[in-house]
Amino acid sequence: MIVITKTDVTPETNTFTELMEYLSGLPGIRTRVHEEHGVQQTVTEIYLVGDTASLQVEDVQSLPGVERVVRVSEEYRILGRHRDDPRPTHFYYNGIRFAQDTLHIFAGLCAVDTREHVELMMKALQALGLPCTRMGAYKPRTNPYSFQGHGKACLPYVFELAGKYDIRVIAMEVTHESHVDEIREALTQTGNPTGVMLQIGTRNTQNFELLKSVGRQHEFPVLIKRGFGITLEESLNAAEYLASEGNRNVVFALRGMKTNMGDPHRNLVDFGHVPVVKRLTRMPVCIDPSHSVGSRTRAPDGLLDVFHVTAQGVIAGANLILADFHPRPSKALVDGPQALKLEELPHFVEDVRIAREAYEKRMARAAHYAALD
Ligand code: PEP
Ligand code: MN
Repeated sequence: MIVITKTDVTPETNTFTELMEYLSGLPGIRTRVHEEHGVQQTVTEIYLVGDTASLQVEDVQSLPGVERVVRVSEEYRILGRHRDDPRPTHFYYNGIRFAQDTLHIFAGLCAVDTREHVELMMKALQALGLPCTRMGAYKPRTNPYSFQGHGKACLPYVFELAGKYDIRVIAMEVTHESHVDEIREALTQTGNPTGVMLQIGTRNTQNFELLKSVGRQHEFPVLIKRGFGITLEESLNAAEYLASEGNRNVVFALRGMKTNMGDPHRNLVDFGHVPVVKRLTRMPVCIDPSHSVGSRTRAPDGLLDVFHVTAQGVIAGANLILADFHPRPSKALVDGPQALKLEELPHFVEDVRIAREAYEKRMARAAHYAALD
């Protein structure tokens, strides 16, 4: 059960202290306080855990200082969508709103290789007014002898160039908690020219200690990939780990499932789950068409498979798109075969716009028909 207090009933007030004393004194109930700092106001929530079945929502609702009470189902307590749940489906980071009703393109390098390539990529993004990108510095590779990423050595120039080209948010995978410290240090050292959304890769979706440590920091939002060989429920629980440690600025990314049923795509595209994740949780949903398809294969209609699956995700309401691009795909040190070329970026953006427009029209029609119910 979640007890949301009135805006002026903050932890410093007497009303809050009295409320906490009462709630903590209830038999079989433990409490945990969470403060959500929004742009305009801070919302204080008290989580009641334990024998909440014996509590009546109306009784708790009538206590002094209480604004609203939500009874949560067992699943995804914090990130889940529950009945009569007024909690938001968005968060702000570095001036950008990430929500279940927005759409942002994170086109960029799978792995940072040279400064020149980073600069070319960011210049192309700025020309199209795109404020987000993806840049891999720490790469989890199947083969121990493959390029593992430049790590912290590349961070200062990646961040400086981001500042130069108005890039506000970089999605960057971390595979160890020390990487978060390295990112924080490099941002400070370069004067915080940009922001970072920490990415948890599909191989680490159930690395619970990593999830806990990334969840304990509140500075950076987190984009967590669905595990490629586990159920959706298991992956959503992994996202809940981040929130249970305090970080609720979480984006959930679909990236295809590892099964040869998906052949000839690298992974079986699972973008039909975009609306499912939005229904079950309050997280913005990302799609990664590049790691799903894994190649530059083109359909007979002239569209690349990557374009096709992107449009499928967008028309189903996706909120972020993580896509691999490279100025010279044949020279890329990681995932060159699936990277799109910079010249294709304007075409990609326009194709996304068309799919988004179709989604918005579909939504408007759905609202009209729902009103007739
Ligand atoms: C990536 O986005 O670079 C990546 C390695 O993705 P995934 O974890 O989905 O394989
Ligand atoms: Mn990759």
